[in-house]
Amino acid sequence: NTFAEIDLGEALNANIRRCKYVKPTPVQRHAIPISIAGRDLMACAQTGSGKTAAFCFPIISGIMREEYLQRPRGARTVYPLALILAPTRELSSQIHDEAKKFSYQTGVKVVVAYGGAPINQQDGRATFELVLGGQPATLGLRELERGVDILVATPGRLVDLLERARVSLQMIRYLALDEADRMLDMGFEPQIRKIVEQMDMPPPVRFGKTKLLLRLASDFLSNYIFLAVGRV
Ligand code: AMP
Repeated sequence: NTFAEIDLGEALNANIRRCKYVKPTPVQRHAIPISIAGRDLMACAQTGSGKTAAFCFPIISGIMREEYLQRPRGARTVYPLALILAPTRELSSQIHDEAKKFSYQTGVKVVVAYGGAPINQQDGRATFELVLGGQPATLGLRELERGVDILVATPGRLVDLLERARVSLQMIRYLALDEADRMLDMGFEPQIRKIVEQMDMPPPVRFGKTKLLLRLASDFLSNYIFLAVGRV
């Protein structure tokens, strides 16, 4: 019933203590062990129920635990290990802030990319229009070379980065779709499909005439657990 009881790794547990989180919220209590066990999950819970931490903790903890993963080194392309998609600039920015807090001194690097930020030119070459540390800033090539572990992005901007070959999803091991229902309502289904297609994931399951969100889940998740919890 405390975070200390869940084996998230010492650095992450220290960050959780620093944030004064003592007890997991209901969605966290159920979702975190399921995710750590490597199961796919669709979780439904109210705004304010602690969903962000519920998907960030297993991702950060998992990346911390990995042996150093050999990733291709391209000067212009980054190979994140985790992708968090969110419908809006505001939400992706909030997730980025949270994920950064929790990845402090864990060695896990979080970057956010959302639409609307200008594409800057540097030495005549386009630089990576990511936003670091919550401050709109353009990543130079040197920054890119240091790599990205967790990429938080809006679907449209990510498709753009994929088309420019600035991001590769070849190494993705963790995928979180935050507010998936809202992303579908906003018409992001084609972008989400394009994104997931580029990952090294099992082939999509066929779908019937189910609701859009369930269809997306049955296409992208395998043998997933459905979790619905009320407000904290
Ligand atoms: P979220 O639903 O992810 O937007 O989180 C709602 C708010 O609850 C945020 O301000 C979090 O920082 C906070 N929060 C999340 N999990 C916990 C927890 N286990 N204990 C205390 N506060 C939390």
